[in-house]
Amino acid sequence: MGSPIDLGKMFGVQVRVDLTVLLVAAIFVVMGVGENPTLRNVLDEATYVVLLFLSIFLHEMGHAAGARLFGISTLNVTLTFFGGYAQLGKQPQRAIEDIVISFAGPATNLAIAGLLYVWLTSATSAGLANHSWGILWQVMYANLFLGLLNLLPGFPLDGGHIARAVLAMFLPLTTARLIVGYIGVAVGFLFIGLDLTGGFGFGLLIGMLLILVASQEIQAARAGRF
Ligand SMILES: [Zn+2]
Repeated sequence: MGSPIDLGKMFGVQVRVDLTVLLVAAIFVVMGVGENPTLRNVLDEATYVVLLFLSIFLHEMGHAAGARLFGISTLNVTLTFFGGYAQLGKQPQRAIEDIVISFAGPATNLAIAGLLYVWLTSATSAGLANHSWGILWQVMYANLFLGLLNLLPGFPLDGGHIARAVLAMFLPLTTARLIVGYIGVAVGFLFIGLDLTGGFGFGLLIGMLLILVASQEIQAARAGRF
């Protein structure tokens, strides 16, 4: 995959992009344009893909902002083929830290979706809507999807971190890790199933990745490793 390219710092966080993003972006544009490769469609799809990756970037910056609340620095935010990740200076120690930091990412997407929804509906009723607003509706739905998907309670999704922290208040940590690990595997199979039935492009790739990471977590929990 090579090493990610540094784009400089934003709010004290190093921003990096993996070149695989370009590959995924190109596939998205080709898939989105379909059988109508007019210049306008290509530009529309490219605009959508840029805004989609911007939404993923803001999701990760949401985590970084959540971490800062507890004095935890973020070493970098990196965009890559499966989305993005924020590398924190240290792991959250207390459950409340883990919950707030994990929730801050999806919450950012839900906030963007909410703001876009209010803006677009009021602009539409005022008769201001035009062609390019269709792209913004797509971005609204993408953010809604990103927020809800990441809140599913399976590891390694953000919702899995939240569920693990909550479960660990009542159960031994190993049991909590196993439960969210198994839910992560189930969510992975759900994505693959949705992809195969045509409902969710990229579900196969994301689903396999989830199953892989969740299985590693299950093995680590069983062995008492972190
Ligand atoms: Zn996240």
